[in-house]
Amino acid sequence: MSDPAARLCVRMPGPERLTQQEHVWRVLAGHLGVTLELVRPAEATGVYEAVVLPGGSCRLRIRHQPERFSVHRLKAHAVRHAGREFLLPAGEFELEMRQLDDAAEVNADVILGLLSLLQLWEEHEIPYRDRFGLVEGGRSPRHAAGLLSEPLMEHVAAWLAAVLDLPRPDPPPWGLAISCDVDVLEDDHMPAVLDFLGRYGVERPTFMICTVSGQERTVRDPQYDFSSPEIRRRLKPLLDADVEIGLHGSYLAHDRPEMLSAQRRRLEDWCDRAVVGHRSHFLRFAYPRSWAWQRRVGLAYDASLGYPDVPGLRCGAASPIPFLDPEDPATAFTIVPTAALDQHFFWPEVWETPVFEAYVAALLGRMRELGGILTLDWHTYTLGGGYTGWWDRLGYILEAAREQGARLAGIAAMVAWWQGDRGGSPSGERRRAIDV
Ligand SMILES: [Zn+2]
Repeated sequence: MSDPAARLCVRMPGPERLTQQEHVWRVLAGHLGVTLELVRPAEATGVYEAVVLPGGSCRLRIRHQPERFSVHRLKAHAVRHAGREFLLPAGEFELEMRQLDDAAEVNADVILGLLSLLQLWEEHEIPYRDRFGLVEGGRSPRHAAGLLSEPLMEHVAAWLAAVLDLPRPDPPPWGLAISCDVDVLEDDHMPAVLDFLGRYGVERPTFMICTVSGQERTVRDPQYDFSSPEIRRRLKPLLDADVEIGLHGSYLAHDRPEMLSAQRRRLEDWCDRAVVGHRSHFLRFAYPRSWAWQRRVGLAYDASLGYPDVPGLRCGAASPIPFLDPEDPATAFTIVPTAALDQHFFWPEVWETPVFEAYVAALLGRMRELGGILTLDWHTYTLGGGYTGWWDRLGYILEAAREQGARLAGIAAMVAWWQGDRGGSPSGERRRAIDV
Protein backbone atom coordinates (compact mmCIF):
# COMPACT_ATOMS: atom_id res chain seq x y z
CA MET A 1 0.00 0.00 0.00
CA SER A 2 1.14 3.57 -0.61
CA ASP A 3 2.01 5.58 2.48
CA PRO A 4 -1.14 7.63 3.17
CA ALA A 5 0.94 10.32 4.88
CA ALA A 6 3.23 10.89 1.87
CA ARG A 7 2.76 14.19 0.05
CA LEU A 8 3.99 15.05 -3.41
CA CYS A 9 5.08 18.67 -3.12
CA VAL A 10 5.61 20.52 -6.38
CA ARG A 11 6.94 24.03 -6.82
CA MET A 12 5.60 25.34 -10.10
CA PRO A 13 7.95 27.16 -12.53
CA GLY A 14 6.61 30.62 -11.85
CA PRO A 15 4.02 32.81 -10.18
CA GLU A 16 1.44 32.57 -12.99
CA ARG A 17 -1.34 29.99 -12.85
CA LEU A 18 -0.76 27.04 -15.24
CA THR A 19 -4.18 25.40 -14.94
CA GLN A 20 -3.54 22.55 -17.38
CA GLN A 21 -0.09 21.70 -16.04
CA GLU A 22 -1.41 21.77 -12.48
CA HIS A 23 -4.04 19.28 -13.59
CA VAL A 24 -1.34 16.97 -14.97
CA TRP A 25 0.30 16.95 -11.53
CA ARG A 26 -3.12 16.23 -9.99
CA VAL A 27 -3.50 13.24 -12.35
CA LEU A 28 -0.06 11.91 -11.38
CA ALA A 29 -0.57 12.34 -7.62
CA GLY A 30 -4.03 10.77 -7.82
CA HIS A 31 -2.60 7.84 -9.75
CA LEU A 32 0.09 7.34 -7.11
CA GLY A 33 -2.45 7.66 -4.29
CA VAL A 34 -0.70 10.56 -2.56
CA THR A 35 -1.79 14.04 -1.56
CA LEU A 36 -0.57 16.84 -3.82
CA GLU A 37 0.71 20.20 -2.64
CA LEU A 38 1.29 22.82 -5.31
CA VAL A 39 3.23 25.98 -4.62
CA ARG A 40 3.70 28.95 -6.95
CA PRO A 41 6.94 30.85 -6.29
CA ALA A 42 7.11 34.65 -6.28
CA GLU A 43 9.75 34.62 -9.06
CA ALA A 44 9.94 32.53 -12.24
CA THR A 45 12.42 29.63 -12.02
CA GLY A 46 11.70 27.86 -15.33
CA VAL A 47 11.58 24.45 -13.65
CA TYR A 48 9.13 22.27 -11.78
CA GLU A 49 10.71 21.07 -8.55
CA ALA A 50 9.15 18.00 -6.94
CA VAL A 51 9.90 16.30 -3.64
CA VAL A 52 8.09 13.76 -1.47
CA LEU A 53 7.49 14.80 2.13
CA PRO A 54 8.09 13.82 4.81
CA GLY A 55 11.54 12.43 4.40
CA GLY A 56 12.12 12.61 0.63
CA SER A 57 15.86 12.49 0.03
CA CYS A 58 15.83 13.52 -3.62
CA ARG A 59 14.48 16.53 -5.48
CA LEU A 60 13.47 16.26 -9.11
CA ARG A 61 13.74 19.26 -11.39
CA ILE A 62 11.91 19.16 -14.72
CA ARG A 63 12.47 21.95 -17.19
CA HIS A 64 9.31 23.90 -18.02
CA GLN A 65 8.76 24.67 -21.70
CA PRO A 66 5.84 26.96 -22.37
CA GLU A 67 5.84 26.39 -26.16
CA ARG A 68 3.26 24.04 -27.59
CA PHE A 69 4.68 21.41 -29.97
CA SER A 70 3.17 19.32 -32.75
CA VAL A 71 2.07 15.81 -31.76
CA HIS A 72 3.92 14.57 -34.85
CA ARG A 73 7.03 15.46 -32.86
CA LEU A 74 6.03 13.70 -29.65
CA LYS A 75 8.56 11.09 -28.69
CA ALA A 76 8.73 8.51 -25.91
CA HIS A 77 12.21 8.90 -24.45
CA ALA A 78 13.64 5.86 -22.64
CA VAL A 79 15.34 6.68 -19.32
CA ARG A 80 16.73 4.30 -16.73
CA HIS A 81 16.60 4.57 -12.97
CA ALA A 82 17.69 1.93 -10.44
CA GLY A 83 17.85 -0.73 -13.13
CA ARG A 84 14.40 -0.05 -14.56
CA GLU A 85 13.44 1.61 -17.82
CA PHE A 86 10.69 4.18 -18.20
CA LEU A 87 9.29 5.95 -21.27
CA LEU A 88 8.82 9.69 -20.90
CA PRO A 89 6.74 11.69 -23.42
CA ALA A 90 8.29 14.95 -24.63
CA GLY A 91 9.14 16.81 -27.82
CA GLU A 92 11.48 15.46 -30.45
CA PHE A 93 14.94 16.27 -29.15
CA GLU A 94 17.51 14.62 -26.94
CA LEU A 95 16.25 14.08 -23.43
CA GLU A 96 18.97 14.17 -20.83
CA MET A 97 18.70 13.22 -17.21
CA ARG A 98 21.40 14.26 -14.75
CA GLN A 99 21.78 12.73 -11.32
CA LEU A 100 23.30 15.07 -8.74
CA ASP A 101 23.89 14.29 -5.05
CA ASP A 102 20.47 15.23 -3.78
CA ALA A 103 18.63 16.01 -7.00
CA ALA A 104 17.84 14.74 -10.46
CA GLU A 105 17.37 17.05 -13.44
CA VAL A 106 15.57 16.51 -16.71
CA ASN A 107 16.05 18.94 -19.59
CA ALA A 108 12.71 18.21 -21.31
CA ASP A 109 9.19 19.14 -20.26
CA VAL A 110 7.68 15.76 -19.53
CA ILE A 111 4.66 17.48 -17.98
CA LEU A 112 3.91 19.24 -21.28
CA GLY A 113 4.37 15.93 -23.13
CA LEU A 114 1.84 14.28 -20.86
CA LEU A 115 -0.49 17.26 -21.15
CA SER A 116 -0.45 16.90 -24.93
CA LEU A 117 -1.73 13.34 -24.51
CA LEU A 118 -4.28 13.95 -21.76
CA GLN A 119 -5.70 16.93 -23.65
CA LEU A 120 -5.98 14.93 -26.91
CA TRP A 121 -3.93 17.41 -28.98
CA GLU A 122 -3.56 14.58 -31.46
CA GLU A 123 -7.26 14.71 -32.30
CA HIS A 124 -7.12 18.47 -32.70
CA GLU A 125 -4.20 18.26 -35.10
CA ILE A 126 -5.46 15.29 -37.12
CA PRO A 127 -9.01 16.21 -38.13
CA TYR A 128 -9.83 12.96 -39.97
CA ARG A 129 -12.94 11.15 -38.62
CA ASP A 130 -14.70 8.04 -39.89
CA ARG A 131 -18.28 8.15 -41.19
CA PHE A 132 -19.66 7.89 -37.64
CA GLY A 133 -17.55 10.83 -36.46
CA LEU A 134 -15.08 8.57 -34.65
CA VAL A 135 -11.36 9.06 -34.15
CA GLU A 136 -9.44 6.07 -35.49
CA GLY A 137 -6.36 4.81 -33.70
CA GLY A 138 -4.80 3.82 -37.01
CA ARG A 139 -4.45 7.55 -37.84
CA SER A 140 -2.41 8.35 -34.74
CA PRO A 141 1.32 9.00 -35.12
CA ARG A 142 1.68 6.86 -31.97
CA HIS A 143 0.23 3.92 -33.90
CA ALA A 144 2.98 4.21 -36.51
CA ALA A 145 5.55 4.46 -33.71
CA GLY A 146 4.23 1.36 -31.90
CA LEU A 147 3.20 3.45 -28.90
CA LEU A 148 -0.61 3.40 -29.09
CA SER A 149 -1.01 0.90 -26.24
CA GLU A 150 1.90 2.28 -24.21
CA PRO A 151 0.54 3.69 -20.91
CA LEU A 152 2.75 6.80 -20.87
CA MET A 153 0.97 8.44 -17.92
CA GLU A 154 1.68 5.32 -15.87
CA HIS A 155 5.32 5.41 -17.06
CA VAL A 156 5.73 9.01 -15.85
CA ALA A 157 4.04 8.25 -12.51
CA ALA A 158 6.18 5.15 -11.89
CA TRP A 159 9.32 7.08 -12.87
CA LEU A 160 8.44 9.90 -10.45
CA ALA A 161 7.83 7.37 -7.68
CA ALA A 162 11.18 5.68 -8.38
CA VAL A 163 13.26 8.87 -8.62
CA LEU A 164 11.60 10.52 -5.60
CA ASP A 165 11.71 7.35 -3.46
CA LEU A 166 7.97 7.43 -2.95
CA PRO A 167 6.83 4.61 -0.68
CA ARG A 168 5.00 2.27 -3.05
CA PRO A 169 4.24 -1.45 -3.01
CA ASP A 170 6.50 -3.57 -5.20
CA PRO A 171 4.95 -4.80 -7.43
CA PRO A 172 2.40 -1.97 -7.56
CA PRO A 173 -1.33 -2.79 -7.47
CA TRP A 174 -3.02 -3.36 -10.82
CA GLY A 175 -6.22 -4.74 -12.22
CA LEU A 176 -8.65 -5.13 -15.09
CA ALA A 177 -12.03 -3.39 -15.22
CA ILE A 178 -14.46 -5.62 -17.09
CA SER A 179 -17.49 -4.13 -18.83
CA CYS A 180 -20.05 -5.34 -21.35
CA ASP A 181 -22.12 -3.25 -23.74
CA VAL A 182 -25.66 -4.53 -24.35
CA ASP A 183 -26.35 -3.72 -28.03
CA VAL A 184 -28.42 -6.72 -29.12
CA LEU A 185 -30.94 -8.76 -27.10
CA GLU A 186 -32.28 -11.29 -29.58
CA ASP A 187 -31.96 -14.23 -27.21
CA ASP A 188 -31.50 -15.18 -23.55
CA HIS A 189 -27.70 -14.87 -23.36
CA MET A 190 -27.41 -13.08 -20.00
CA PRO A 191 -27.24 -16.22 -17.82
CA ALA A 192 -24.35 -17.53 -19.98
CA VAL A 193 -22.56 -14.15 -19.79
CA LEU A 194 -22.90 -14.04 -16.00
CA ASP A 195 -21.75 -17.62 -15.72
CA PHE A 196 -18.68 -16.90 -17.91
CA LEU A 197 -17.60 -13.87 -15.86
CA GLY A 198 -18.30 -15.71 -12.60
CA ARG A 199 -15.99 -18.55 -13.66
CA TYR A 200 -13.09 -16.09 -13.91
CA GLY A 201 -13.94 -14.48 -10.57
CA VAL A 202 -14.88 -11.07 -11.99
CA GLU A 203 -16.38 -9.11 -9.13
CA ARG A 204 -19.37 -6.88 -9.86
CA PRO A 205 -18.93 -6.65 -13.68
CA THR A 206 -20.38 -3.62 -15.47
CA PHE A 207 -23.24 -3.86 -17.98
CA MET A 208 -24.00 -0.81 -20.13
CA ILE A 209 -27.66 -0.85 -21.20
CA CYS A 210 -29.25 1.36 -23.87
CA THR A 211 -32.69 2.81 -23.06
CA VAL A 212 -33.16 4.80 -26.29
CA SER A 213 -36.83 5.44 -27.03
CA GLY A 214 -39.19 6.90 -29.67
CA GLN A 215 -37.85 9.96 -31.49
CA GLU A 216 -34.41 9.56 -29.89
CA ARG A 217 -33.68 6.45 -31.92
CA THR A 218 -31.59 6.47 -35.13
CA VAL A 219 -30.86 3.57 -37.50
CA ARG A 220 -27.48 3.24 -35.77
CA ASP A 221 -28.95 2.59 -32.33
CA PRO A 222 -29.56 -0.77 -30.65
CA GLN A 223 -32.93 -1.95 -31.92
CA TYR A 224 -34.28 -3.54 -28.75
CA ASP A 225 -37.19 -1.79 -27.04
CA PHE A 226 -36.16 -1.32 -23.41
CA SER A 227 -39.78 -0.89 -22.33
CA SER A 228 -41.04 -4.20 -23.77
CA PRO A 229 -41.89 -7.01 -21.31
CA GLU A 230 -39.87 -9.54 -23.32
CA ILE A 231 -36.72 -7.38 -23.24
CA ARG A 232 -37.21 -6.78 -19.51
CA ARG A 233 -37.40 -10.55 -19.04
CA ARG A 234 -34.11 -11.06 -20.95
CA LEU A 235 -32.43 -8.38 -18.80
CA LYS A 236 -33.84 -9.68 -15.51
CA PRO A 237 -30.85 -11.95 -14.72
CA LEU A 238 -28.77 -8.76 -14.36
CA LEU A 239 -31.17 -7.40 -11.73
CA ASP A 240 -30.85 -10.61 -9.76
CA ALA A 241 -27.02 -10.70 -9.91
CA ASP A 242 -24.37 -8.59 -8.16
CA VAL A 243 -23.46 -6.44 -11.15
CA GLU A 244 -23.08 -2.74 -11.90
CA ILE A 245 -25.71 -1.28 -14.24
CA GLY A 246 -24.38 1.56 -16.41
CA LEU A 247 -25.91 3.63 -19.19
CA HIS A 248 -25.06 2.96 -22.84
CA GLY A 249 -25.93 6.43 -24.16
CA SER A 250 -27.59 6.34 -27.59
CA TYR A 251 -26.02 7.45 -30.89
CA LEU A 252 -27.10 11.08 -30.51
CA ALA A 253 -27.09 11.37 -26.69
CA HIS A 254 -23.37 12.15 -26.40
CA ASP A 255 -24.12 15.76 -27.33
CA ARG A 256 -27.72 16.14 -26.08
CA PRO A 257 -27.92 16.40 -22.31
CA GLU A 258 -31.74 16.28 -22.12
CA MET A 259 -31.67 12.97 -24.04
CA LEU A 260 -28.90 11.61 -21.85
CA SER A 261 -30.77 12.61 -18.71
CA ALA A 262 -34.02 10.95 -19.86
CA GLN A 263 -32.16 7.74 -20.76
CA ARG A 264 -30.44 7.63 -17.38
CA ARG A 265 -33.79 8.17 -15.59
CA ARG A 266 -35.43 5.28 -17.49
CA LEU A 267 -32.59 2.98 -16.48
CA GLU A 268 -32.69 4.00 -12.81
CA ASP A 269 -36.48 3.55 -12.72
CA TRP A 270 -35.99 -0.02 -13.92
CA CYS A 271 -33.04 -1.10 -11.78
CA ASP A 272 -33.96 0.95 -8.71
CA ARG A 273 -30.36 1.88 -7.98
CA ALA A 274 -28.12 4.82 -8.81
CA VAL A 275 -26.60 4.71 -12.31
CA VAL A 276 -23.22 6.48 -12.23
CA GLY A 277 -21.35 4.94 -15.17
CA HIS A 278 -21.61 5.65 -18.89
CA ARG A 279 -20.26 4.59 -22.25
CA SER A 280 -21.55 5.96 -25.56
CA HIS A 281 -22.88 3.60 -28.20
CA PHE A 282 -20.27 3.55 -31.04
CA LEU A 283 -17.95 5.37 -28.58
CA ARG A 284 -19.43 8.60 -29.94
CA PHE A 285 -17.81 11.57 -28.32
CA ALA A 286 -17.42 15.36 -28.49
CA TYR A 287 -14.29 16.44 -26.69
CA PRO A 288 -14.42 17.72 -24.00
CA ARG A 289 -18.04 18.77 -23.73
CA SER A 290 -19.53 15.23 -23.63
CA TRP A 291 -17.88 14.83 -20.21
CA ALA A 292 -19.34 18.14 -19.06
CA TRP A 293 -22.83 17.05 -20.18
CA GLN A 294 -22.45 13.68 -18.47
CA ARG A 295 -21.36 15.24 -15.20
CA ARG A 296 -24.20 17.75 -15.30
CA VAL A 297 -26.83 15.00 -15.63
CA GLY A 298 -25.47 13.24 -12.54
CA LEU A 299 -23.11 10.60 -13.91
CA ALA A 300 -19.79 10.01 -12.12
CA TYR A 301 -17.62 8.42 -14.80
CA ASP A 302 -17.41 7.89 -18.56
CA ALA A 303 -15.75 5.01 -20.40
CA SER A 304 -16.23 6.22 -24.01
CA LEU A 305 -12.59 7.12 -24.65
CA GLY A 306 -11.56 4.29 -26.95
CA TYR A 307 -10.90 3.56 -30.61
CA PRO A 308 -13.31 1.73 -32.93
CA ASP A 309 -10.60 0.15 -35.09
CA VAL A 310 -7.66 -0.91 -32.92
CA PRO A 311 -6.90 -1.37 -29.23
CA GLY A 312 -5.05 1.56 -27.74
CA LEU A 313 -4.96 4.41 -25.27
CA ARG A 314 -6.42 7.59 -26.73
CA CYS A 315 -5.08 9.84 -23.96
CA GLY A 316 -1.86 7.91 -23.27
CA ALA A 317 -3.29 6.61 -19.97
CA ALA A 318 -5.01 3.31 -19.20
CA SER A 319 -6.04 4.10 -15.62
CA PRO A 320 -8.94 6.27 -14.44
CA ILE A 321 -8.09 9.97 -14.37
CA PRO A 322 -9.98 13.03 -13.14
CA PHE A 323 -11.69 15.33 -15.67
CA LEU A 324 -10.81 19.02 -15.60
CA ASP A 325 -14.02 20.94 -16.27
CA PRO A 326 -12.90 24.46 -17.23
CA GLU A 327 -16.21 25.89 -15.97
CA ASP A 328 -16.04 24.07 -12.66
CA PRO A 329 -12.47 22.96 -11.82
CA ALA A 330 -13.41 21.64 -8.37
CA THR A 331 -15.79 19.09 -9.85
CA ALA A 332 -15.40 15.33 -9.43
CA PHE A 333 -15.82 13.29 -12.59
CA THR A 334 -13.69 10.36 -13.69
CA ILE A 335 -12.53 9.44 -17.19
CA VAL A 336 -12.05 5.70 -17.60
CA PRO A 337 -10.18 5.03 -20.88
CA THR A 338 -11.33 1.84 -22.62
CA ALA A 339 -8.26 0.07 -24.02
CA ALA A 340 -9.69 -2.91 -25.91
CA LEU A 341 -12.99 -4.14 -27.35
CA ASP A 342 -13.88 -7.62 -28.56
CA GLN A 343 -14.18 -6.38 -32.16
CA HIS A 344 -10.58 -5.13 -32.25
CA PHE A 345 -9.25 -8.68 -32.49
CA PHE A 346 -11.74 -9.87 -35.13
CA TRP A 347 -12.71 -6.98 -37.35
CA PRO A 348 -11.92 -5.96 -40.04
CA GLU A 349 -9.67 -9.01 -39.82
CA VAL A 350 -8.96 -11.74 -37.29
CA TRP A 351 -5.69 -11.37 -35.40
CA GLU A 352 -3.64 -14.54 -35.65
CA THR A 353 -3.30 -16.26 -32.26
CA PRO A 354 0.46 -15.62 -31.81
CA VAL A 355 -0.03 -11.92 -32.63
CA PHE A 356 -2.94 -11.65 -30.18
CA GLU A 357 -1.06 -13.46 -27.42
CA ALA A 358 2.08 -11.36 -27.90
CA TYR A 359 0.00 -8.17 -27.73
CA VAL A 360 -1.74 -9.31 -24.53
CA ALA A 361 1.56 -10.35 -22.93
CA ALA A 362 3.11 -6.94 -23.64
CA LEU A 363 0.10 -4.95 -22.45
CA LEU A 364 -0.47 -6.94 -19.26
CA GLY A 365 3.27 -6.90 -18.57
CA ARG A 366 3.31 -3.10 -18.70
CA MET A 367 0.33 -2.79 -16.38
CA ARG A 368 1.87 -5.24 -13.93
CA GLU A 369 5.23 -3.41 -13.88
CA LEU A 370 3.86 0.11 -13.73
CA GLY A 371 0.60 -0.37 -11.79
CA GLY A 372 -2.82 0.78 -12.92
CA ILE A 373 -6.15 -0.30 -14.31
CA LEU A 374 -6.90 -1.53 -17.80
CA THR A 375 -10.51 -1.41 -19.02
CA LEU A 376 -12.01 -3.93 -21.43
CA ASP A 377 -15.37 -3.87 -23.25
CA TRP A 378 -16.92 -7.07 -24.63
CA HIS A 379 -20.42 -7.06 -26.20
CA THR A 380 -22.81 -9.51 -24.54
CA TYR A 381 -24.27 -10.75 -27.85
CA THR A 382 -20.88 -11.89 -29.18
CA LEU A 383 -20.84 -14.73 -26.65
CA GLY A 384 -23.01 -16.80 -28.96
CA GLY A 385 -24.24 -16.90 -32.54
CA GLY A 386 -21.75 -16.35 -35.31
CA TYR A 387 -18.98 -14.90 -33.14
CA THR A 388 -16.89 -18.01 -32.67
CA GLY A 389 -13.95 -17.44 -30.35
CA TRP A 390 -14.72 -13.83 -29.39
CA TRP A 391 -15.25 -14.59 -25.70
CA ASP A 392 -12.48 -17.21 -25.68
CA ARG A 393 -10.10 -14.30 -26.20
CA LEU A 394 -11.58 -12.46 -23.21
CA GLY A 395 -11.15 -15.67 -21.22
CA TYR A 396 -7.50 -15.82 -22.29
CA ILE A 397 -6.89 -12.22 -21.13
CA LEU A 398 -8.70 -12.75 -17.79
CA GLU A 399 -6.81 -15.96 -17.07
CA ALA A 400 -3.44 -14.41 -17.93
CA ALA A 401 -4.17 -11.33 -15.81
CA ARG A 402 -5.39 -13.37 -12.85
CA GLU A 403 -2.28 -15.56 -12.96
CA GLN A 404 -0.17 -12.40 -12.78
CA GLY A 405 -1.96 -11.07 -9.71
CA ALA A 406 -4.44 -8.62 -11.27
CA ARG A 407 -7.74 -7.79 -9.60
CA LEU A 408 -10.74 -8.38 -11.85
CA ALA A 409 -13.90 -6.35 -11.28
CA GLY A 410 -16.42 -4.05 -12.94
CA ILE A 411 -15.60 -0.40 -13.58
CA ALA A 412 -17.27 1.27 -10.56
CA ALA A 413 -15.77 -1.32 -8.21
CA MET A 414 -12.28 -0.85 -9.70
CA VAL A 415 -12.49 2.95 -9.64
CA ALA A 416 -13.63 2.91 -5.99
CA TRP A 417 -10.73 0.60 -5.14
CA TRP A 418 -8.23 2.71 -7.07
CA GLN A 419 -9.40 5.98 -5.53
CA GLY A 420 -9.54 4.38 -2.08
CA ASP A 421 -6.81 2.69 -0.09
CA ARG A 422 -6.14 -0.06 -2.69
CA GLY A 423 -6.04 -2.73 0.00
CA GLY A 424 -8.50 -5.59 0.47
CA SER A 425 -11.41 -5.98 -1.90
CA PRO A 426 -12.05 -3.74 -4.92
CA SER A 427 -15.48 -3.03 -3.41
CA GLY A 428 -14.03 -1.44 -0.28
CA GLU A 429 -14.49 2.29 -0.67
CA ARG A 430 -12.39 4.93 0.99
CA ARG A 431 -11.68 8.03 -1.01
CA ARG A 432 -8.51 9.96 -0.47
CA ALA A 433 -8.71 13.70 -0.74
CA ILE A 434 -6.40 15.34 -3.24
CA ASP A 435 -5.34 18.86 -2.39
CA VAL A 436 -5.81 21.49 -5.08
ZN1 LIG B 1 -23.05 -0.01 -28.46
